[in-house]
Amino acid sequence: MISLSDIESRIVLNVGGTRFETMKSTLKKLPATRLSKLTEQLSHYDPVLNEYFFDRNPNVFSQVLNYYRTGKLHYPTNVCGPLFEDELSYWGLQREDVEPCCWMTYTRHRSTQETLQIIDSLELDTLCSTKEDIMKKFHYEDEILQGRELSTGKRIRTIIWQIFEESRSSTISKIITVISVFFILISIMSFMLQTMSVFNVTEINFVTAYINSTTMKRMPTPNGEDITQAFQIIQWTCNAWFIFEITIRFIVSPNKTLFCKSAFNIIDFLATFWFVLTYILTNIFHIPENEGFDLISTIRVVRIFRLCTLHPGLKIIVIAMQYSSTILWLLIFFVFTAIALTASFIYYAERSTPNEDNYFTSIPDSLWFSMITVTTIGYGDLYPKTLLGMLVGAVTTIAGVLIIDLPMPIIVETFANFNTHLTARSKLPKKRRKIAVVEKPRKVQVSPLG
Ligand SMILES: [Zn+2]
Repeated sequence: MISLSDIESRIVLNVGGTRFETMKSTLKKLPATRLSKLTEQLSHYDPVLNEYFFDRNPNVFSQVLNYYRTGKLHYPTNVCGPLFEDELSYWGLQREDVEPCCWMTYTRHRSTQETLQIIDSLELDTLCSTKEDIMKKFHYEDEILQGRELSTGKRIRTIIWQIFEESRSSTISKIITVISVFFILISIMSFMLQTMSVFNVTEINFVTAYINSTTMKRMPTPNGEDITQAFQIIQWTCNAWFIFEITIRFIVSPNKTLFCKSAFNIIDFLATFWFVLTYILTNIFHIPENEGFDLISTIRVVRIFRLCTLHPGLKIIVIAMQYSSTILWLLIFFVFTAIALTASFIYYAERSTPNEDNYFTSIPDSLWFSMITVTTIGYGDLYPKTLLGMLVGAVTTIAGVLIIDLPMPIIVETFANFNTHLTARSKLPKKRRKIAVVEKPRKVQVSPLG
């Protein structure tokens, strides 16, 4: 038999068509929430059916009610994060009340939104800006607002900008990109090839020399024309293109400060500038070429990074590295700690046993050995010879393998995260790509019910 007081203490909640039944005392467990303040005077109350009706999501509510019963709030797996948050704030619960085991699932949508926002702000998947975007970039909105046509000069400026900056926006820009890539590759290739001994010869002409009236001999004479002159011509052609390209891009760029701050532009400028400067110094001021000049010339090879800006996939690698910078710094710190520790150990281990040709004469020498071993390179130019030294060497190797491999999955995951979202987005129509702003966790306010 159910007593009358039992029925009195029960309460029926109809949430979105699903009926939930619970004890009144259960709802009092969490004070200052919507359910703890239910009275029959509320508009939610249906006196005919003796129940409270709420037009909310019943899936989430079963978890909410469970929170009242058990004091633990878990995440319903079939509901997306923002919906869950909305429902929580309706019922007057704090989002921080979610149990730690569900916290990851609950916050996943937040990191997804952040990733999407980064992709959005970097314009990673913009093949071709719309007219409005370009006008905004160049601050030409006034003309549009006043209904005036753009002047020819301004129109040409935007067209040239698009050709040079958006590599896949039109056929002309694709051609320009191909030419650019071609010259970058040729410039780097010729820079590398000219160091080969095969190309380091002087062309020799053979002249017939008459020694006396009966004998003659073919004599080699240097032509003076160096084959490496060909490399000079190639370098000049490439650099002429680079100068042309960077000048045009600078002239039409809507934001000159931003243009000058871009790392790719700085590299491009320095490489070209250094090429012209060395030419002037050696050929006009006759300063002999030296090793220092050549060393700085290697900046030309850095130009290859410009290829990274051409494909969104390549850009993501750079961005993934940037967003994993915390873990990368941690790795560098860890590697250096390991190197310093093992170097000191092996130095004293090798010294402990008398050994005639000990490689480890100082700790800096041992630092080189440790670095090569920890990074698993192992040149083999230095190696321990005593038993104790070998033991330290073995420990160093194993520690190296562990340290180097540990943070890799994190960087790979960041990359995969960006990559999957970018691929998913590219399948959406452009207008649907707008994303909601990530909200900061806020205090939930319980409004007076009614
Ligand atoms: Zn949980």
